[in-house]
Amino acid sequence: TINSSKQAIALEDKYGAHNYHPLPVVLSRGEGVYLWDVEGKRYFDFLSAYSAVNQGHCHPRIKDALIEQAGTLTLTSRAFYNDVLGPFEKYITEYFGFDKVLPMNTGAEGVETAIKIARKWGYEKKGVAEGQAKIIVAEQNFHGRTSTIISFSSDTNARKNFGPYMQGFVRIPYDNVEALQAALEDENVVAFLVEPIQGEAGVYTPAEDYLRRVAESCRSKNVLFIADEIQTGIARTGSLLAVCGNCTCSGHCERQSTYTKPDILILGKAISGGFYPVSAVLADNHIMEVIKPGTHGSTFGGNPLGAKVAMTALEVVRDEKLAQNARKLGKIFRQRMQVLVDKYSILKLVRGKGLLNAVVVNDSPDSSTAWDMCMGLAENGLLAKPTHGNIIRFAPPLVMTEEQLHECCDIIEKVVREF
Ligand code: PLP
Repeated sequence: TINSSKQAIALEDKYGAHNYHPLPVVLSRGEGVYLWDVEGKRYFDFLSAYSAVNQGHCHPRIKDALIEQAGTLTLTSRAFYNDVLGPFEKYITEYFGFDKVLPMNTGAEGVETAIKIARKWGYEKKGVAEGQAKIIVAEQNFHGRTSTIISFSSDTNARKNFGPYMQGFVRIPYDNVEALQAALEDENVVAFLVEPIQGEAGVYTPAEDYLRRVAESCRSKNVLFIADEIQTGIARTGSLLAVCGNCTCSGHCERQSTYTKPDILILGKAISGGFYPVSAVLADNHIMEVIKPGTHGSTFGGNPLGAKVAMTALEVVRDEKLAQNARKLGKIFRQRMQVLVDKYSILKLVRGKGLLNAVVVNDSPDSSTAWDMCMGLAENGLLAKPTHGNIIRFAPPLVMTEEQLHECCDIIEKVVREF
């Protein structure tokens, strides 16, 4: 058993592949917005496992659902039917307003699935010559780590020495409809895959009408608009999905005018509240019908345990009005951070939507300032992680209260003041 942080870090260092560079904090317990390390120190979580625990750590309702299902039936494979998958499929398709869902496990698998569906649709429905399909993606995208997905990444670290790369992707600048329209002139284009807000890149929020114009441009050229909402979805940005725009319905999209429906929607992370890997690809019949028996699958995808957990996690989002809370707290957070940006020259700017926000540190991406700041935050009981050197992402669980948020902003101010 582990009884010190040092011991746990040494074990990971010796026996684990070094594919991450974690902050030196060893966590052993979580509850709601809080995490505790092995020494018993308490922290506010401001990463939410990259937005996978929007419902807060160890949410009791999701935990009970998991435990009950774990003692009943966990995995059958799709060789047979199970009695939870159907209800889950009905629930999630009605929840997000699509005809059909294809359940998978991780985000990257969801993206792979969407790519496969789009290509097959391109050949069988649009009439693109076999092997010629192209998918447009954005500069600075992050869609996961598989060899296909990193093939169209613009991040050197993610790509270098992992080739040969998958063909058939065209990269254009993000938040640039003119570049998209130019790329759409190619008749072999079958889809545009994009994050409604680029999370990993550093929370880049596009122009207000970007997604609407993207969808219209794609539709006019018979090209599928694929929204990767793995990080932005499930109430994180202050609406159920980022494609809901400023829709103010109670966590369940009621088709208001701000909503831009993607042709394919990819979800993951918080769809299961951090309990279990579940991802989902949603589309309407005329698209999803290209998938036939034998064309795609996963041993664990659609298993009863994941299905039950995901259904409960989505219920929590709606019942606890997490989208509304994210919207309200997000405004307060950015206001408070803006005060710091104006006051302390070490901070450059704050941006984001709902509770997916980033503060850019006024130093070069090669400097250690953002890392040092995160170390200072950890010392003061708040966990956040830098991205791309000088950007700190702030994304707490959406169950945070206004009072807790102010306490967190006070911690951030205390640390920033010392730089
Ligand atoms: N897509 C987006 C937008 C993401 O933010 C992530 C993870 O950070 C992924 C895909 C990949 O998800 P996973 O790590 O579950 O494969």
